[in-house]
Amino acid sequence: MIHKRKLHTENRGIGMTSQGTRDRLVQTLRREGIKDERVLKAITQVPRHKFVDEALSSRAYENTALPIGQSQTISQPWIVARMTEALLDGGKQQKILEVGTGSGYQAAILSHLVPTVFSIERIDELLKLARRRFHGLRLNNIYLRYADGHLGWPSQAPFDGIMVTAAAQAVPQELLEQLGVDGSLVIPIERNGQQRLITVRRTEDGFEENDLGAVVFVPLLSGLA
Ligand code: SAH
Repeated sequence: MIHKRKLHTENRGIGMTSQGTRDRLVQTLRREGIKDERVLKAITQVPRHKFVDEALSSRAYENTALPIGQSQTISQPWIVARMTEALLDGGKQQKILEVGTGSGYQAAILSHLVPTVFSIERIDELLKLARRRFHGLRLNNIYLRYADGHLGWPSQAPFDGIMVTAAAQAVPQELLEQLGVDGSLVIPIERNGQQRLITVRRTEDGFEENDLGAVVFVPLLSGLA
């Protein structure tokens, strides 16, 4: 009897985090306008349930943000896909910087798409967990830093793309300076009491901005925690 119940629980676990469940998430993202096949493929490759607490793993393939502790959230899969699409739109990308490692999920998606990912987090506890996850999944092309991401990662600049996964009051000048020509910065910005997802592309002559619409993110904070 006990044996039977155990088996049942295990099967249910496998069902909720299975490839089929992931494929259904990809169908949803496709329906909701995500077109870049590289991004959709990365979503099928990364086990999102490994980036949330076990108690939430059955909800990991819903198209929703989930809590990851420390008052932070793992972004909704649609927004991860949309931001990744926007970041990749353009030339060949070798080196990407992410600000706001959080659970590590976004960095894991990027690690399947570009040779090298740099990611900065200001909450040590989250950074440690993310580091453990990358190790467990053998994602060896992600470099992590415990710092305030407003300042970027000057010694590794320029980057082919920069993604900020928390909402800033304004575009940090340091990040613009660390963007290579043809690279894009994807960042949620507070404007008129609303958060807007902005892309800033660096050209030979300057910067071009685009507004991708309203979004909801946790705030980009200063200093370390
Ligand atoms: N990309 C993450 C999303 C995490 S939420 C994921 O895939 O799970 C945003 C993260 O940004 C939080 O972990 C928060 O601690 C971090 N953050 C906020 N301000 C920051 C700053 N100035 N520098 C670095 N990280 C920051």
